[in-house]
Amino acid sequence: MSFKAEKIWMDGQMIPWDEAKIHILSHVIHYGSGVFEGIRMYHNDKGSFIFRAQDHYQRLIDSCKIYRLVPNYNVQQLMKFTIDLLKANQLKDAYIRPLVFRGFGDIGVSPKNCPIHTMISAWNWGRYLGADALEKGIEVGVSSWQRIAANTLPSMAKACGNYLNSQLIKMEAIENGYEEGIALDKDGYLSEGSGENLFIVKDNILYTPNLGSSILYGITRDSVIKIAQELNIKVVEKKIPREILYIADEVFFTGTAAEITPVVKVDGNSIGDGKVGETTLQIQKLFFDVINGKKEDKYNWLYAVT
Ligand code: PMP
Repeated sequence: MSFKAEKIWMDGQMIPWDEAKIHILSHVIHYGSGVFEGIRMYHNDKGSFIFRAQDHYQRLIDSCKIYRLVPNYNVQQLMKFTIDLLKANQLKDAYIRPLVFRGFGDIGVSPKNCPIHTMISAWNWGRYLGADALEKGIEVGVSSWQRIAANTLPSMAKACGNYLNSQLIKMEAIENGYEEGIALDKDGYLSEGSGENLFIVKDNILYTPNLGSSILYGITRDSVIKIAQELNIKVVEKKIPREILYIADEVFFTGTAAEITPVVKVDGNSIGDGKVGETTLQIQKLFFDVINGKKEDKYNWLYAVT
């Protein structure tokens, strides 16, 4: 296995990685009844920092709320457990995966009698979309699968079940020779990747699908919007037609795992001149300058792991 660490935190205990197990009749396995997060810890010469820890854990609690899942811990407690885990695993750079899920209690669809469990894992995870994805960009295709429609599965909750849709998008993309797919929403407007938000640069304006386009309210997306505004780039959040992809100057994905990944080809068509664009580079640079401690962390995005 390409990733592993010593310990996993589960329901208040540090458990050896190979012993962190659940019952086969757990509700989450049968019905996808869990919510989770993906968070990154970075290391720079001032120490290790979790990127927007509080915002990620707040989103986890919000996801719980949407699914009437009463969490056993609050944001501050979850942040403390995460730090304990990172220390126990002696990690410097890490991808952190917390999950709140319904366990074994009842096998009917109603989850009411199932206990709620919490786990946090963390390991060293490199570039999500390929070793040189951040520098060279990736090729993507528009998916034949649409993103989950409004009032079916709530896209603002980062829920396990949503990722069945993501898997279809991702598997199709890989089959077709792409690194990732772009899904449209149920009306045919741009939505997002299987695990990333989408940005388009056209005539010096930065466009991104709005909350009504079946997207996850991405934390990297929010960071990029703030960075763009700081760079005096106009940002427009709206319903965006698919065809803008073919006449865009630049396209990029954002996400905790994907960070800021340029897209250089869509459906075999080169975007702009086929190279990573200037605006993408500018935004990427400021994002990593904050993470690497080279620029002031004016939004308090970095939570020190001390
Ligand atoms: N959309 C989906 C479907 C995702 O899984 C992710 C990754 N969490 C994102 C967007 C990006 O969100 P964030 O920047 O908060 O990681």
